[in-house]
Amino acid sequence: EEDAEYLVSLIGSTPGFPKEGIIFRDFMPVLADARGLDILMRGFAATLPVAPEDFDVVAGLESRGFLFGPALASRFGKGFVAIRKAGKLPPPVFAESYDLEYGSASVEVEQNAIHPGERVLIVDDLIATGGTARAGADLIKKAGGIVAGFSFLMELDGLDGCSRLSEAPISTLIAMP
Ligand code: IMP
Repeated sequence: EEDAEYLVSLIGSTPGFPKEGIIFRDFMPVLADARGLDILMRGFAATLPVAPEDFDVVAGLESRGFLFGPALASRFGKGFVAIRKAGKLPPPVFAESYDLEYGSASVEVEQNAIHPGERVLIVDDLIATGGTARAGADLIKKAGGIVAGFSFLMELDGLDGCSRLSEAPISTLIAMP
């Protein structure tokens, strides 16, 4: 409880970034703070949505999922796979496109990164509408993996992003307005 309050106190909030009407929640100060980073890593480990024996690999969503995903994976003796924005990974890749407010985007994973039937824990710093995590999960399935769960540091209240991820259990450490 005290730990959760401390985490929240470290989250930066910037109204109007990256565009008007959005309050940008920034978890970089959590990483920069020794106690914050310790609480973050222990929090993820303690609230895993699946038992360690029920997932095989951690997949992080670009780019903030890359900042703690490998450390979390290592803590449980697992590997880490990067789900990247289009055009960053060398071919061959699997790709999954998804709709944005204006236009569309796509995410990619290297074709040999996920072995058939591997159970994947998907991680990111924040879930808002759930569109990014939804695309990541669909990509994992396209790559032959099984989505075992989702872990987020922050969930934005009122957007109900988690309802789009009904196929697997979810953990979030803190909710932000
Ligand atoms: P969603 O697809 O609407 O759920 O948005 C989640 C994605 O956008 C994640 O990859 C987040 O890192 C990023 N994102 C959305 N809002 C914020 C924010 O306020 N701070 C940091 N990242 C954000």
